[in-house]
Amino acid sequence: MSPAAGDKPVNPSNLIGLDYRRVPQWAVDVPLFDVHTHVRTAEGVEAFFEAAAAYGVRRVLSMQSILEAPRLRERWGRRVGFIAVPRWAEFALTDAFSRQWRADLAEFRDLGATLCKFWVAPPMRDEHGLTLDHPFMEPIIAHALDLGYSFMVHVGDPTLWWNSRYADTARFGTKRAQYQQLEHLLRRVSPRLVIGAHMGGTVEDCDLLQELFDRHPNYVIDTSATKWVVREVSRHPQRVRELVIRNADRVLFGSDCVTEPRHDFDHYASRYWAQRTLWETAHDGLSPIEDPDAVGAPLLRGVNLPPETLRKVYAENAIRLGLDA
Ligand SMILES: [Zn+2]
Repeated sequence: MSPAAGDKPVNPSNLIGLDYRRVPQWAVDVPLFDVHTHVRTAEGVEAFFEAAAAYGVRRVLSMQSILEAPRLRERWGRRVGFIAVPRWAEFALTDAFSRQWRADLAEFRDLGATLCKFWVAPPMRDEHGLTLDHPFMEPIIAHALDLGYSFMVHVGDPTLWWNSRYADTARFGTKRAQYQQLEHLLRRVSPRLVIGAHMGGTVEDCDLLQELFDRHPNYVIDTSATKWVVREVSRHPQRVRELVIRNADRVLFGSDCVTEPRHDFDHYASRYWAQRTLWETAHDGLSPIEDPDAVGAPLLRGVNLPPETLRKVYAENAIRLGLDA
């Protein structure tokens, strides 16, 4: 909560006074498959699953510790599937960490995971010198391929961060440079699928996304990272609409909801409300979610996709690509 003018606190998930329990009538009635969440614990996440269900989400894929995965499966059953991630807190470019990562990949696979996630945003390059074409990654990639995995990657970050936290491109690389490692992975694992998280990390540049789609038939993207995606899509909703319709088989629904003990129903509902309002309506007004990167009040300008495209993005693509295993 942050103080508003006057004494009334502002809910950062509800700047415009919505009642998230009154779920809108949506354009399509299809059960959604959310390919990108972080349900970090089995307990204390009832509000997340309640909000997901209220907004039509049938199943989520989650990234969390391997140690929590069996409990999540026991408590939530088929409502949650897993994306294999390493033990980030112990991350180091050592043989021991590499061995642990490969062992965890096998264990996640036994729990039904079909995707593994590589997080190689600019801080990874700065702190560890790591990119996907670094020799450290090759045994990990080879092992993941042997186990039958497809891939999710985070390479980009909001373009405007290159004006601030990534301004030193000698340390972080340019934004465009982040994509060399992505293209390395796309070629290395082809025809295995690669999902570019957060609209491929570059919803600001739909031309680059189209180039990547055209060059790499195994490349798809997810819609996750609600604040970033809402902010930047709203700057050019018509261009994004063209991109998604033209590549309707290659966009997957994701929220990037991260569970935290302090988050309530409204927090999670706000992400699903904003995502659905963005993709399936012509809403042209304020976004309900506080956004520290927005200039002035955060805006949400809807893309208003046709129903057949929405059905693909929300569910059909994930099923066709085998992610609902
Ligand atoms: Zn995420």
